[in-house]
Amino acid sequence: MKNISILGSTGSIGTQTLEIVRENKDKIKVHALSGNSNINLLERQINEFEPAICAVMNKENAEKLKSRISGKTKVVCGMDGLVQSVCANGVDIAVTAISGMIGLKPTIEAIRCGKDIALANKETLVAGGEMVMSLARKHNVNIMPVDSEHSAIFQSLMGNEVNKIKKILLTASGGPFRGKTLKELETVSLADTLNHPNWSMGKKITVDSATLMNKGLEAIEAKWLFDLTPEQIEVVVHPQSIIHSAVEYDDHSVIAQMGNPDMKIPIQLALFYPYRLKNNLKSLDLFEIGKLTFEKPDMNTFKCLKLAFEAMKIGKSMPIVLNKANELAVEMLIRKEIKFLDIQNMVEDIMLRHTPVEAASFDEILEIAKWTAANIKKPN
Ligand code: NAD
Ligand code: MG
Repeated sequence: MKNISILGSTGSIGTQTLEIVRENKDKIKVHALSGNSNINLLERQINEFEPAICAVMNKENAEKLKSRISGKTKVVCGMDGLVQSVCANGVDIAVTAISGMIGLKPTIEAIRCGKDIALANKETLVAGGEMVMSLARKHNVNIMPVDSEHSAIFQSLMGNEVNKIKKILLTASGGPFRGKTLKELETVSLADTLNHPNWSMGKKITVDSATLMNKGLEAIEAKWLFDLTPEQIEVVVHPQSIIHSAVEYDDHSVIAQMGNPDMKIPIQLALFYPYRLKNNLKSLDLFEIGKLTFEKPDMNTFKCLKLAFEAMKIGKSMPIVLNKANELAVEMLIRKEIKFLDIQNMVEDIMLRHTPVEAASFDEILEIAKWTAANIKKPN
């Protein structure tokens, strides 16, 4: 029996993780849940999964939730609460299904407590990759990728431990605006931006998929997970999202992983590796799909992808600035305070004004994030 703690159990990855638990009750149990504002869903999840702990970021929400449930589940709050929920005795795996850099602290603490990590929260590695990976090595902790591309790379590496990676092919759907010009992007609406062709996900990652920042963040995530240089990472737009990514070796053999676009496949593998459990998903029907196509990404139009590669090459504090500025800009877009193209322009503008410094400790990372928040400029 494995015991898991889910950081962000009310979100897209969190709820899909719980579906897997529901289908495998004899193999996996929920020790802790957590969330931010959706306490109605947290209440239902507590009643169904009876966790020992539930962490709620907001104190008032935590009090409300406490008054609604039986005493079996301990409700904790704030960042301390999130940390408690992953570090609790009895937790084997922390599923980091929280969105944004806020996931960095609980992930670091979970690693320090020796918990294995099923990592969905890519912003954590973008901001703190060096620290997270070295802590994981120090504490002998496994970091299992949940992101479908990284799971595909992980699977394409299986059995090739003695071989060096020549490069990885990081596939991208291209998002809802693939093929659009800068002029056309000037007038896209928030609803268009949130309408992803292949995946149903949380709002932040859906916006990132439309700007291609998601692929940029994933490139940086891949750098840290698989110890790659920026030159070893090639982004390939593949609109059908059937090949989830691939690895090319020195003999020019390319190994890819395929499947229908369903996050339950990589989540399940991250939880049960090396076992591939049966599930109720559909088989891949290549006849129905008919054609798999590939394109070069348009980095001049979708500047976020180029900016992410630049930040990765510059290193030091630059990826933190890229990530934080993007998080803030995406929040502004969702609140309808800025337009779609403002995101890439705001990220570019603050990167130009930032002088990179070493930022490998948690406090240093936080300082850079604060600097970014204080210095980001909304367009006039
Ligand atoms: P989501 O918005 O659907 O869910 C986010 C979860 O985090 C929610 O439970 C929310 O309550 C919680 N949360 C957010 N802010 C919080 C805070 N301040 N305190 C406590 N809890 C907080 O997001 P998602 O789509 O599930 O994505 C989660 C992470 O997984 C992201 O980093 C994303 O990039 C990554 N990811 C998601 C998918 C996907 O298909 N959804 C695929 C690959 C990677
Ligand atoms: Mg992905």
